[in-house]
Formats: sequence, structure tokens, C-alpha cells
Amino acid sequence: MTLCFEQGPIRPPSEAASLLLRLTRNCTWNKCVFCPTYKGQTFSRRSLGEIKKDIDTVKEMIRLIREYSLDNGFSGAINRKVLEYFYTGGNYNMFHVAMWLHDGAKTVFFQDANSLIMKTADLIEILKYLKEQLPTVERVTSYARSDTLLRKSVDELAQLGQAGLSRIHVGMESGSDEVLKFMDKGVTSQQHVDAGKRVKEAGISLCEYVLLGLGGEQWSQEHALSTAQALNAINPDFIRFRSLAVTEEMPLYQKVLSGEFKVQDDAGVTLGQKMFIERLEGIQSSVISDHSLNLLEEVKGKLPEDKPAMLGVLDRFLELPPKEKQIFILGKRLGMFHRLSDLHDTEQYRQVEQMFNRLDEGQYAEVIAYLKGQLIC
Ligand code: SF4
Repeated sequence: MTLCFEQGPIRPPSEAASLLLRLTRNCTWNKCVFCPTYKGQTFSRRSLGEIKKDIDTVKEMIRLIREYSLDNGFSGAINRKVLEYFYTGGNYNMFHVAMWLHDGAKTVFFQDANSLIMKTADLIEILKYLKEQLPTVERVTSYARSDTLLRKSVDELAQLGQAGLSRIHVGMESGSDEVLKFMDKGVTSQQHVDAGKRVKEAGISLCEYVLLGLGGEQWSQEHALSTAQALNAINPDFIRFRSLAVTEEMPLYQKVLSGEFKVQDDAGVTLGQKMFIERLEGIQSSVISDHSLNLLEEVKGKLPEDKPAMLGVLDRFLELPPKEKQIFILGKRLGMFHRLSDLHDTEQYRQVEQMFNRLDEGQYAEVIAYLKGQLIC
């Protein structure tokens, strides 16, 4: 019988080298209008027995992978030949575990969107079992909704931290109540702040996600200022940028068609991002841009010392002549440009400019929207 264990659809990019273990299925809330991930699916819990069985399966897979390496003269190492063997073997779980071993087998991510909904005692039991069975694990992280975190006391969160839960990823999206309400996030700005502070007080590393462009044209300034204000109150370890792209699968698409929501163009989003960073004050967070949908991925650094450099990148983009801005946006969305300085690569520039010159204004907007939609995950 083929060995397998259950995995969900997504993880944060920073967990690319992590073992993905599914504790719960889908999202407890599932109403955010900008989020297509679990639409049409219902939330369900997995039993402790099912989760432990998956951990046992991973352990058995590790044994088999090491055995293959030894039997083939690789001394138990997980080298390219071993990875190739499991890649072509057709068992995705097995290849995932082989990759995890290759990357050091140190980190684990609990799926899906809100596994902190589980009882604290059950989470502790899973964390303990995981560490017993897979002793190389050093870091365990999970997504959590702010309202769910508020159902746990600081003491409970601290117990989770002591049992091995190292980091919590929270989709703040916005610190503006107007934006959160319109987007049906189901959480207020104050709840985000209280939950974030609670995680920090419990000694668990905290990563807050900000969704650039979520204020649209209507609430761009409000989104920027209120989100900065909320994060200033929390001082999370990490602030990570995501960027809004609207596709047909999202309920937000209907609000765009009806005119209730006006999508900002990339220049407008960048202006909002500048306003946001300008207002981040008194915190020591690392600002990270690790998603290809972000227009200016080079806007990242440690606060407060890197704030001027981050603002400098945004200013350089905003000061470009209109045509240069559009060419950079097109090149970035095509994957041909990665940094603003790529505009000086004459050959790449020539190719992007040729494409740009073939598009009229309407076609340009359609191409950009299409390319952005392709990058959603
Ligand atoms: S954004 Fe997060 S909380 Fe909202 S529906 Fe998607 S997965 Fe659920």
C-alpha cells in the first residue's frame, strides 16, 4: 500500500522548507471577500489519532528514504540522486519528506488556516508527540485568526510556546475597521492589536501580514494609516507584505463589477505603501516582502534603521516618468524585472518596451490584471 499523509493547499512562502502537517481542514471563517483559497469548502477538525498517524507516516517515510540512500551507496545522505528517485516515484508526500530531510528537517508548519482553534491541551499533545517522534524539529509555526487567539489566555499561549510552537502567522490584512468590515474579515482592528500583544506577551514570535491595496481607491489613506497604527501598537517580530489582485473566484470581484470597490493601480498602491511605512514608528519589526505579487520586492529591512532605504526605493519608483513606471510594472509582472535597477538592463528593457508599445491603454490594464491573477496562491 502506498504510504501517504494528508496535506492542505497553502503555506506561507517562508515555510517553503517546512514539513506541512494538516491539523485542521480549511478555514473556520471562510468569509473574507478577497480570499479564494477555501471557498466552497467547509471547515473540519482532524482527530488527534489521525494527526499522530500522519506523524508516524512521516517517520516511516524518513526510514525508507534513508534506507534507499544507504542501499544505493549514498551513506544515508539525501543528495540529488535520492531526490530525483523520489521525485520520479510519483508519491508527492514521499518527495516532500525527502526535500524536507534535504533541507535539514528542522521546521514544521501546521495547516490549514486557523489550527489554533484546537483545544490548547490537544495542540500541546500534538507538539509533544511531534518532537518525540521527529526530534530534529526546532521550529513549529501556524496560521491563526486574531479572534481565535483571543480565546486563549496569555498563559495558554505561553504553554504552547513552551511545548514548541515557535511562531504564529496572522493575516491582519488591514488595521482599518472600515476596510476590515467591507472585506468581511470578521475581526476588528482592536482585536488584531489585542491578539498580537497577547502572542508577544506569551513569548511566541509573531508575523503579521499586510495586504497592500486592500483599501482600494476609497480607503487607501485610511488603510495605510490605521494599519501602521495597529502595528505600532503590537510591535510584531515580522511584518510581511502581500498585494491584492482581484480574480473571478473572489466575492470581491462582484463588488468591483458593481462599482462598490475600486481597485487601485500599482502606482496608487505604492503611494499607500509609502504612507504606511512613513507611519511605522517606535517598533523593531523586520519588514519582509516575500511574494512575487509585490511590485517592489526590494522594499524590506529592519526597523527603524532601514526605514529611509525602504522609503528611498518607493520614492525612486514614484518619481519615474509615467511611461517608465508602466514599463517597470509590465516587466515585473512578466517576471523579467525584479528590482528597479533592472530598468538599466538595456536588452531586457528593449524587450519589455516592445511589448508595451504593442498595447493600447485598455489592453495594458487587462494584461496587468491577468498577469497578477496568475500569481495568486
Ligand atoms: S483570509 Fe484567512 S481567515 Fe479569511 S477566509 Fe481566507 S483563510 Fe479564512
